[in-house]
Amino acid sequence: MPTPVSSATTTGGPPPRADLVVVGGGILGTATAFHAASRGLDVVLLEHGHRLGGLTTQASAGGHRLQFDSPEEVALLRESLEAWDHLGDLVGEPGLDLRRVRNGYLWVTRDPARAASQRTQVDAQRAIGVDAVTWLAGDEARRSFPFLAPDVVGARYRALDGWLDPLIATRAFADGAIRRGATIAFGTPVTGFEVSAGRVSAVLTATGRVECGWAIVAAGPFTGEILALAGVTVPLAARLRQRLYLPAVPEVPRDAPMTIDEDSGSHWRPEAGGAYVLRPDPDAPVLPATHDPVAPRAFYDLLLDPESPVAVARHAPFWRTTWERRSQHWYVTAGQYTYSPDHKPLLGPTAIPNLGINGGYSGHGIMAAPAGSRVALDALLGVVAPGSNPFRADRAFAHDEARGPL
Ligand SMILES: Cc1cc2nc3c(=O)[nH]c(=O)nc-3n(C[C@H](O)[C@H](O)[C@H](O)COP(=O)(O)OP(=O)(O)OC[C@H]3O[C@@H](n4cnc5c(N)ncnc54)[C@H](O)[C@@H]3O)c2cc1C
Repeated sequence: MPTPVSSATTTGGPPPRADLVVVGGGILGTATAFHAASRGLDVVLLEHGHRLGGLTTQASAGGHRLQFDSPEEVALLRESLEAWDHLGDLVGEPGLDLRRVRNGYLWVTRDPARAASQRTQVDAQRAIGVDAVTWLAGDEARRSFPFLAPDVVGARYRALDGWLDPLIATRAFADGAIRRGATIAFGTPVTGFEVSAGRVSAVLTATGRVECGWAIVAAGPFTGEILALAGVTVPLAARLRQRLYLPAVPEVPRDAPMTIDEDSGSHWRPEAGGAYVLRPDPDAPVLPATHDPVAPRAFYDLLLDPESPVAVARHAPFWRTTWERRSQHWYVTAGQYTYSPDHKPLLGPTAIPNLGINGGYSGHGIMAAPAGSRVALDALLGVVAPGSNPFRADRAFAHDEARGPL
């Protein structure tokens, strides 16, 4: 979806000064710009390319869920989900249609030990405020979801979870920011920062400099290397992720939830008359950030060939029919997950107090964009004290071995 040019966009060099410069025009940069412009700040968003959401955001599956295992993530997602419920009113676009679908999130397993830990996990999630989440034994799960394989022995499910269109959301945040006075400069890669007396005084771009009171980097996989231009080091790593899209798959039930095989990480959901099929490979190498991630053809066979150890047919046998029919066309789109050591985002000021970060969400940057961007901005502006920000960039990282693949 090309991004339209408007009176609030420029490609002829950025404005010379702003209260706040936002680096990156994905969902997190536009959400940050919206929050900042809503607070009355004069905002300039600098985007390397010529469209919004054109890098990682467009590659995502748009999933959103409250099923998380830490109180701080549940709080972040609760605030975000409320924002998604009312985004049109928030940004000043009543009637906004995010193409939101609430078919739920269903995590299934064929492993009895994992089924037992699913039950414990559901109890723990309820204890930290995840409402409406439930554990189902295999037969119960098959009664609600007849497409599940006979050897599925457990499932955890929350009917209120679902997905939305990330590009519509990105465009809505950008328009909301523009209505509040923000400017977006396309074709304006950030190349450096002027730092004096320990503070950023200007953001440098290929087509001019922007003096600013604050700057915040929300540049997806490029976030770490852009902050390094100011001498700031953050623990972020980018790994390739891909999304297989099959536009026409009659076998996929239209009312199916986001269905995740917890044993393999493979997952899928309906999309229009077809489906998205995905799998984050836990062994994918850390790669340099790229504007053009390569989508491997082998991804189709990996997920659809029923003989593959991570085939979606293993938990949902109808996929075997799709594989055998072989008439459908398909596309693989690639993006990069940006990981912090604990897979939770880094939000707020960096070692340079007026230079912020809004990144490192791994697979949650769409769903958590509204609240994550609000927290990142409030922490940068000093509205949220460091001690009240569980996502501060200089926190001690505890790696959670039990963390799932998504
Ligand atoms: C396959 C896949 C599936 C996913 N599924 C989900 C999901 O279901 N739910 C979910 O919540 N999340 C999901 N995610 C994660 C989600 O897509 C990301 O967390 C989110 O898009 C990150 O947004 P962003 O704005 O930081 O990054 P991006 O969309 O990558 O935006 C960064 C922007 O910064 C710009 N930029 C880069 N360098 C510069 C520079 N020097 N100067 C100026 N601009 C620059 C880029 O051009 C780009 O437009 C998925 C990701 C992938 C890859």
